[in-house]
Amino acid sequence: MHRPAALGGAPAFAPDAFPAWPQWTDDERTGLTAALDEGLWGSSRARRAADFAADFARFQGAAIGLPMANGTCTLEAALVACGVGEGDEVVVPALTFAATAVAVLRVNAVPVVADVDPDSLCLVPEHVEAALTPRTRAVIAVHLAGAMAATDRLAALCAARGIDLIEDSAHAHGSRLLGRGAGSWGVFGSFSFQQSKLLTAGEGGALITSDPARAETARSYANCGRRTGGATYEHVRLGVNYRMTEWQGAVLAAQLRRYPAQLARREEGARHLGAALAATAGLRPQGRDPRMDRSAYYAYVLHYDPEAFGGLPAARFSAALAAEGVPVATPYPALNRLDMFAAGAAAPAPPTAAERVRAAVCPAAERAAQTTVWLHHRLLLAPPDRLARVAEACDRIRRAAGRLSAVGG
Ligand SMILES: *Cc1c(COP(=O)(O)O)cnc(C)c1O
Repeated sequence: MHRPAALGGAPAFAPDAFPAWPQWTDDERTGLTAALDEGLWGSSRARRAADFAADFARFQGAAIGLPMANGTCTLEAALVACGVGEGDEVVVPALTFAATAVAVLRVNAVPVVADVDPDSLCLVPEHVEAALTPRTRAVIAVHLAGAMAATDRLAALCAARGIDLIEDSAHAHGSRLLGRGAGSWGVFGSFSFQQSKLLTAGEGGALITSDPARAETARSYANCGRRTGGATYEHVRLGVNYRMTEWQGAVLAAQLRRYPAQLARREEGARHLGAALAATAGLRPQGRDPRMDRSAYYAYVLHYDPEAFGGLPAARFSAALAAEGVPVATPYPALNRLDMFAAGAAAPAPPTAAERVRAAVCPAAERAAQTTVWLHHRLLLAPPDRLARVAEACDRIRRAAGRLSAVGG
C-alpha cells in the first residue's frame, strides 16, 4: 500500500499541481503603469479607486461603493455611520476572523457573541434574537467561506427591532441569496481585498450601501472627516485616513473584470470536488442555503468526523493533506478563545467587553474550530480530474490513519 506523504511516501501532487494565488495578467500591469504615469497615486481625488468601488457595488447589487484601505476599517466606518458608539452592543458570530469583533471594539462598543449554525457555520437568527438587549444597536453577519447567512431573516429581524444589519462579506464576493448579492441586504456590506481574498490588491476594502446619507458619513469618516464638496481643510467630524490608493484601484479593476469567469470556474470546481468526496466517509461539505443562486468559495470547508479516521484530529488530517500537496487553510478559533479576550492577557480588550466575550456560550463554533478542514480556494480552479484525485488523497490518509495517530504530534 502506498504510504501517505506524512509518513514519508511520495506526495500525491506535484508542487505546481494547483494554480497559484493571486493571479494576474497584463491587464493589472497596464492599469498599474497607467496609474504611475498619471502621477495621481492617491488622495480623495483618486478616480481608479472610486470607479472600481462603484463597479463593484453594482456587481453586488448596491447603489454606492466606497473604496477603503482594508476590510477592517470598512467595518469600523460602517459602525460609525450607523451611529454605534460607547456602551452600545453589536451582535457578532462566534466563528469569524478577529476583525469582525475588533471593529466593534474600535468604536468603543461591545461585541456580543452569538453561536453559529453547526452546518452552515453562519449566524443563526434565533441565537441573535436571544442575544438582543435594549443596548443592541447593530448585528454583523458573516457569510463564512462564501456561504450566506439567513440574511433575509436577519434583515427582517433587524428591521423589526429598529437596529442595523451590517454584512461582513469579506468571504463572499459574488455570493447571492434569492437573487440578491451579499452585502446588499444590510445597511452596509463590507468587503476585503487582502492578499488571500477572492478579489485582491494585496490589501484593500470597500463598503457598499444604498443609503446615501449614511454613505456620506462613512465616506467622510474614512477621508479625515471631510465633507464631500467641502474645502480641503474643512473637517466636519472626527475622521481618519482610510483611503485606498490608485495602485489598489488599478489592480482591483482588472481583478473585477476577470472575476465573473473565475467565480463560475470555482463553482464548477466545487461541484466536481463535492461529487468526488461524496463517497468519502467522515467528510461532509459545509451546508449552503439552497436558496443561494450564486456561491463564492473563499474556502471549501469540510466537516470532519475523527471517528471515521481512527480518531485522528482534524488538524493532523489537514497537515497530512498539506503534505500530499493539497492547499489547505487554517480554521478560525471561536472568538471567545482569542488571547485578546483572555483574563490576564498582556494586551487585552477592555475588561468588561473581554469578560462578555469570554463568557459567551458557543458550542457549535468551538466544535467547528476543532472539526473542520479548510481547503484553499485556489484548489477549485484546478481541472476536474485533479479535484477527483483529492478524494483519493483523503482515502490514502484514512487507510493510514491508525499509523498516523500512532506517530503522535
Ligand atoms: C479578511 C477579513 C476581514 C478583514 O479584512 P482586512 O482587509 O484583512 O482588514 C474581516 N472579516 C473577515 C471575515 C475576514 O475574513
